[in-house]
Amino acid sequence: MIRTWHKRLLSTIAAFLIVPSCLAAQTSSATSQASAPVQRSHGGEPTHAQLLRGAWGPYRSNNDLLFYHLDIRIDPEKKFVSGKNTIRFKMLKDDSRIQLDLHDALNIDKILLGQTPLHYERDSGAVFVDFPQPLLANHTYSIDFYYSGTPIQTGRFGGFTFGKDPSGHPWIYTACEGIGASIWWPNKDQWHDEVENMQISVAIPNDLVDVSNGKFMGKKDLGDGYTRWDWFVHYPINNYDVSVNIGNYQHFSDRLGHLPLDFYALPEDLEKQFTQAKGMLQAFQHYFGEYPFAKDGYKLVEVPYSGMEHQSAVTYGNHFANGYLERDWTGVGISPRFDFIIIHESGHEWFGNSVSAADPSDMWIHEGWTTYLEGLYVEYMYGHDDAIKYLNGYKPKVKGEEPIITAHGINGEPPIDQYFKGALFINTLRSIVNDDKRWWKLLHDLYQHFKYQNIMTEDMVAFFNQQTGMNLTPIFNQYLRHTAIPTLELKFDNGAVSYRWKVDEPDFQMPVRVGKKDNWQIIHATTDWQTMKTPLTKEDFDVATDLYYVNVTKE
Ligand SMILES: [Zn+2]
Repeated sequence: MIRTWHKRLLSTIAAFLIVPSCLAAQTSSATSQASAPVQRSHGGEPTHAQLLRGAWGPYRSNNDLLFYHLDIRIDPEKKFVSGKNTIRFKMLKDDSRIQLDLHDALNIDKILLGQTPLHYERDSGAVFVDFPQPLLANHTYSIDFYYSGTPIQTGRFGGFTFGKDPSGHPWIYTACEGIGASIWWPNKDQWHDEVENMQISVAIPNDLVDVSNGKFMGKKDLGDGYTRWDWFVHYPINNYDVSVNIGNYQHFSDRLGHLPLDFYALPEDLEKQFTQAKGMLQAFQHYFGEYPFAKDGYKLVEVPYSGMEHQSAVTYGNHFANGYLERDWTGVGISPRFDFIIIHESGHEWFGNSVSAADPSDMWIHEGWTTYLEGLYVEYMYGHDDAIKYLNGYKPKVKGEEPIITAHGINGEPPIDQYFKGALFINTLRSIVNDDKRWWKLLHDLYQHFKYQNIMTEDMVAFFNQQTGMNLTPIFNQYLRHTAIPTLELKFDNGAVSYRWKVDEPDFQMPVRVGKKDNWQIIHATTDWQTMKTPLTKEDFDVATDLYYVNVTKE
């Protein structure tokens, strides 16, 4: 399904980096960050492979994905995956070639249109499939893409991992955000276009359990020592969210109203921490509306890495303890009250999985928003002041080395500032709106407006401008497309203060609260100097920097 998206030129390539993962885990500590496999390319043109993976090229844009049926068998002993993906799509123009993707480590066994084998050409992870006659615009086609092999294990969370649990049972799992789903199954591996729904069938040895995305439809004993587990995803889904989690899982169920809750953990860990899921769901439903994937239910699945937002089957590996990997994540005493991974990764169900970015360049729509959702959870549970404190605890994590939004069309991953600076920016927006009743309605309406869509930042800016009647574009641009945050310059002279914003955006203007706490005064600062009288001295004149993420200089 192709949704709202504006055509944009590939912007100038600045320094970029690719970090395979969702998640704040990549910043968990200096050590773990150093161990993350990071590919950097500074200042160069994107490579041929990056463009093939990242661009919305002619053989991707000529068709619209409708449906996948991933139907595979996984042999833990041989570490071998085989099977097919049935790909249904609608042509948007007459053409005889489409682009799919599959990692070079995997074999293509055959690609069939009905009974007709199709020719294909592989190039750097891309698979160009050729049809004997042109496919016709507005017609729907289905091909069967057969493949096999051993997917590579890579990246911080494993890519595709054939592992073992502490008792020696097989533990096989996928976590492929960044490097991409084509590392383990053939698909149209990009962010612009999603299937409307998906079937996932996974055959595994009889004594194991597979948890994939969507609603569990049943399992079938295949009579050869293998059982097939069938799952159905009733909603659009990102490729990187599609997952298998195979292990010696125990299962228990609960409900929140009509919503089925299903938890899968190793026998020794069962039930320990997952009760927090209910409060999380209540908090986010309060702000945004119904859980996005109600027909599929909500699942938490234990894994040996920290966690990932796999749609409706969120994976969890946060040591069954509060905080983040047993640390006070934002360092202000609030993080230890809740399980960071349950809150953060599940928050992605609203921002990341339901509202998705149409290019990894704009991934702050996933990570900045979900980090802000942590603050909303804190506000719902513990009140406004703790939420502001929690979010401001993220300030020391901001690096401020490059803009949050990176070049489009190269499958590049934005810097870590997309999380913390992104959340602090959204908290600033709340102060600019300066009316909490209106802010809560804006958040709710924003989510409802863009749910199940793939959007770019421009779509979100247009929504905010339209709803608030303000021109917020220069503010979004300053925070997201420049490195520096705004600096409020203050000059004191004889009972007066002069003020202006020092920024990169020429038309930037932003109200800000100044003066004394509990008696703030709002000034409408621009990039031009303005002067007002003040009874306060330079030392006593404050700026509400916990409500606005800005720098202040005084002279
Ligand atoms: Zn995340």
